[in-house]
Amino acid sequence: MKGSWIDGFGRRAVKPSVTKKHLWRILGSWAIAQSILLGTPAFAQNNSDRLSYTELLQKIEAGQVIKIQEDPSRQMARVTYTDAENQEQSRYVGLFDTNPELMDAIRAQNVDYEVKPSADNSAAMGLVVNILVIVVVLAFLLMILRRSTQSSGNAMNFGKSRARFQMEAKTGILFDDVAGIEEAKEELQEVVTFLKSPEKFTAIGAKIPRGVLLVGPPGTGKTLLAKAVAGEAGVPFFSISGSEFVEMFVGVGASRVRDLFKKAKENAPCLIFIDEIDAVGRQRGAGIGGGNDEREQTLNQLLTEMDGFEGNPGIIVIAATNRPDVLDAALLRPGRFDRQVIVDLPSYNGRLGILKVHARNKKLADDVSLEAIARRTPGLSGADLANLLNEAAILTARRRKDAISLLEIDDAIDRITIGLALTPLLDCKKKRLIAYHEVGHALLMTLLENSDPLNKVTIIPRSGGVGGFAQQMFNEEMVDSGLYTRAWLMDQIAIALGGRAAEQEVFGEAEVTIGASNDIQMVTNLAREMVTRYGMSDLGPVALEHPGEQVFLGRGFPSQSEYSEEVATKIDHQIRAIALRGYDRARRIMRDHRILLDRLVDLLLEMETIEGEEFRRLVAEYTTLPERQMAIGLKKA
Ligand code: ADP
Ligand code: MG
Ligand code: ZN
Repeated sequence: MKGSWIDGFGRRAVKPSVTKKHLWRILGSWAIAQSILLGTPAFAQNNSDRLSYTELLQKIEAGQVIKIQEDPSRQMARVTYTDAENQEQSRYVGLFDTNPELMDAIRAQNVDYEVKPSADNSAAMGLVVNILVIVVVLAFLLMILRRSTQSSGNAMNFGKSRARFQMEAKTGILFDDVAGIEEAKEELQEVVTFLKSPEKFTAIGAKIPRGVLLVGPPGTGKTLLAKAVAGEAGVPFFSISGSEFVEMFVGVGASRVRDLFKKAKENAPCLIFIDEIDAVGRQRGAGIGGGNDEREQTLNQLLTEMDGFEGNPGIIVIAATNRPDVLDAALLRPGRFDRQVIVDLPSYNGRLGILKVHARNKKLADDVSLEAIARRTPGLSGADLANLLNEAAILTARRRKDAISLLEIDDAIDRITIGLALTPLLDCKKKRLIAYHEVGHALLMTLLENSDPLNKVTIIPRSGGVGGFAQQMFNEEMVDSGLYTRAWLMDQIAIALGGRAAEQEVFGEAEVTIGASNDIQMVTNLAREMVTRYGMSDLGPVALEHPGEQVFLGRGFPSQSEYSEEVATKIDHQIRAIALRGYDRARRIMRDHRILLDRLVDLLLEMETIEGEEFRRLVAEYTTLPERQMAIGLKKA
């Protein structure tokens, strides 16, 4: 397996985004502003028609006015003149609340005075406009509400028959399409027989199992395997994800479970696949803040349905999870998911098988051997391998080649494990610093006795803020068996700190960068494990931590740590001691090989990537390599 000290020297871009919500807010306020403008009653009077109050008084005194009609609702009066030619066109005048002078003048001149409230249509218009705006805004809001409930699982419909499960009458996937997990396939072969001919088992009184739990990390082919079981048995495949059960309203999940099993019974024999069952199947009443009613109801419903299979042997439920430890014990009882099948990351043979499956429809050049790819990819899942071949095919098409060559495979591996290659930096101090950092890692990989050899070192930046990396070829047997030795771990810690050590040696205390943060994090984790779990420190062979107990994932609060404050302090001291020891080793080697270090950096700046083989050759010109490195160097060539 390749492990890289990936160093974040880049700056991650923060994308500004106008969210939809923000947009709605702007639109909403626009509508309200509009409604205020529209809603203000309009005095749609023509100004030329108007008469001032003083003018009116003068005209009355001059005897030119014969009639005044007051409209109290609008505080206006309509004036009719005495002379015939003006009689037609009446004039309007604005009034005050009380108009004593006007009243005096009217009385004095004996003008006809009348109060006549108009059919006030401008006010009415205002009202109509207001109502209209309100209706429009309401309709608008309703539309938004409708849309958002539709997208959030139709909360308004209480999950009724809006079944969120998929049904495939024929999956078209066979066991041949699944590789690398032979034991799991064998165990499930039995399930295929149950589905195909249940009578074979019932005839002799054997009870047919109802549930199988597939346990394994993501991408190992659990979904694929379940589909293959349905495909082999030729039965319909119902699938739903555990997270689909978890809804806003209590009872929705339970009703979905009911719907699902109802449909399944109509189509028996069939297979139900529940992905991510830990989303509903967590221990009841556990977790921070007590239980979750909705989840518990859903889980209870699921258990009830599975118990109700008595007379209905044609349904088998397969569930998948990568956290079996958080599942409720009731789920694992006989009659429910009593069979557990482990689907683990593939070993060498498994990877080879998976690569063969996915290479079926791809054109590979003669120089590509699937064996070599399988050897180089421990730790990758089936999904990663499928992705790897696909990436290589895309690269090949982009480069207008006829067949996938070794070059594309190499690039695809880097792209999947590290990130997309970007254009190299221009020469600058930053590039120099990165080069020293990476050569620091690479030199230690080459000079330390127990280290696995360097695969390559590069300062071509990659997406995700990776400035460069030095990559190690891990020993496959060791990775597959998981038997790491203490000496190997100590060397790994020194290697991880090699980048920072080189920076400090060359540029001094003040110039070290934050690019080493990943390295330091790694070292801390590794050192902590050595102290608290592997018994590799002065504290002796004592387990001081319980693996895999996480508060947020079920199971309630972690058991109180079983050591005192005093021991906690000791643990911290031990971790620090391990890290410092590694750092001192790294610093010493940098100091002792300063000339070599400078020369390698100059070369790396020029070439941007140095392969492990070449690197070892260069180092060997200056100093003797440890035996193991020599042997590996020869073997690889
Ligand atoms: P999981 O459900 O375990 O997360 P999937 O079954 O969804 O993984 O796998 C995703 C894809 O990866 C599959 O569609 C398949 O193309 C590929 N894959 C994963 N494991 C295998 C395998 N063992 N054999 C062949 N292909 C696999
Ligand atoms: Mg899956
Ligand atoms: Zn580093």
